[in-house]
Amino acid sequence: MTGTIVIKNGSVYDPLNEVNGEKQDIFIKDGKVVSELSDADMKDAKVIDATGKTVMPGGVDSHSHIAGAKVNVGRMMRPEDGYKATMGKTAITHSGSGETVPSVYMEGYEYSQMGYTTVFEAAVPPMEARHTHEEMRSIPMLDMGGYLVLGNNWFMMRYLKEGDIDRAAAYVSWMMKTHKTYGIKCVNPAGVENWGWGKNVSSLDEANIHFEVTPREMIDGLTEVNEMLGMPMSMHLHANNLGHPGCYETTKESLKLSSSVKANQDMDIEWAETKIDPSRDQSVYLTHMQFNAFAGTSWRDFESGVKPLADYVNNADHVVIDSGCVPFGEATCMTGDGPAIHDVAVLTGGKWSNTDVELECGAGVCPFTYLKSNPVHSTQWAMGLECLLLIDDPWKTIMTTDSPNGGPFTKYPLVMTWLMSEKFRDQTFSECHKWANDRSTLGGVDREMSLYDIAILTRANTAKTIGMAHRKGSFGVGADGDVTIYDIDPSKIDTREYSDLINKFSTAEYTIKDGQVVCHNGEITMIPERRTYYTDVSVPDANEKEMLKDVQEWFRYYSHGFNHYPTPEKYLVNPTAIKVNTEQ
Ligand SMILES: [Zn+2]
Repeated sequence: MTGTIVIKNGSVYDPLNEVNGEKQDIFIKDGKVVSELSDADMKDAKVIDATGKTVMPGGVDSHSHIAGAKVNVGRMMRPEDGYKATMGKTAITHSGSGETVPSVYMEGYEYSQMGYTTVFEAAVPPMEARHTHEEMRSIPMLDMGGYLVLGNNWFMMRYLKEGDIDRAAAYVSWMMKTHKTYGIKCVNPAGVENWGWGKNVSSLDEANIHFEVTPREMIDGLTEVNEMLGMPMSMHLHANNLGHPGCYETTKESLKLSSSVKANQDMDIEWAETKIDPSRDQSVYLTHMQFNAFAGTSWRDFESGVKPLADYVNNADHVVIDSGCVPFGEATCMTGDGPAIHDVAVLTGGKWSNTDVELECGAGVCPFTYLKSNPVHSTQWAMGLECLLLIDDPWKTIMTTDSPNGGPFTKYPLVMTWLMSEKFRDQTFSECHKWANDRSTLGGVDREMSLYDIAILTRANTAKTIGMAHRKGSFGVGADGDVTIYDIDPSKIDTREYSDLINKFSTAEYTIKDGQVVCHNGEITMIPERRTYYTDVSVPDANEKEMLKDVQEWFRYYSHGFNHYPTPEKYLVNPTAIKVNTEQ
């Protein structure tokens, strides 16, 4: 029977069910977690003995850039990336190449080798949605979804400037369905539009050109619309002033904006059984906090501003962050924040590419190398880890590298090990510029994360935060049968022997998706079915009709016709709609 499997005797880490290393058997039938298997089922079931191994739900990445136009620009801009990492074809896999921006096939295989089964693309420009879906359709091994970039969209800026929340909500609902996307992404709100005139905005209250809307109005409006619609995830924020010394203050002010907004997740779905409430609590999900946490006034007095931001998050209940860690080495910076990437390009003097997506957003790409000898880069390494270690409650944090901005996702095992091993952090301090220690508080941190914490940061909380815990990130009955088995014996972990942990996290012993072994000790063993999730949001018909009249009227500013705008379902692999706000 396909998708029927028993994983026996493993040390299980399932934080959504408060299972912390207990020896348990996991039963999966027809791809879903069940409480037990009948004798008849057992006859056909595959059995894996996981004695002395670590068993976690399949990895869930809530913020990565692996599909779409700017990812492809990254591939085109650095052919050298293709020489550095290659993968040969096998009887069932394609060949692939690329270190920081791998080809689509390789992305899927590499995530699967690390034990991941679900990845969300963090930035989908509406006009590029078809292309993004085409790439997601080509990425094997993974369930996926994408967040729609709306923080500088002309319609949104107009509606929110006018305070027309109903029309803004109708527009978001229509856009999610039209482009088959999952959540609201807000990148440098109001600022990217100004980049069309070679400018940016520098504070929450600076109105942009023409639309005269401020970042504050955009963040307030998008948050309100998000909760009014009952979206699966909260508004996903890349704050203003990113990457500039002193930006942590803007970030803190931005987080405060949603402090009084109540989370409202109104999904019509079946929840897997979990002990902890799997619905989200947060009204803002801040991404790559490290890049939004620069202190100082220039590159000379640059220092970490993570501590004051972490203090704020420690005292707030409405924020979840992902870290945007910097594991050193090659990276490719790519973001919807065009002006921020321009500043990076000026600093490096290297290649730079910039795109303006008409009426909607923009993007920039710039290859980058993080050096241990560089004072700022070293401080950024420390800051990424501070984001995860200074925030006390792991349920407020998610581990990412904002792949490939801080570094490619293949370096997650390094980050997980730095979090677990003070010795490994000390070793890295000894190899990098002294600013890492002098200009951050990381050196004084002795916290070492447990496997339970790691399971929260890479599975349970990623799924909870983005509204996927109804089927991902847990072993609750009814959850997808996605499992990672690491060859790590929890009773024998010695965090001083950190290279062993890095190796074990890099290559899961088993990656199981929908109850089937898809990767075993780094070898892809089968190509499983996949799904693309998107939200199908309802608003009152009258609101949608009125909004559409307006959108069609304004569509004349686009360079193509209204009828070519939507992404048809046939662009998606197994389109899986999540119904939202169905009372309407
Ligand atoms: Zn990102």
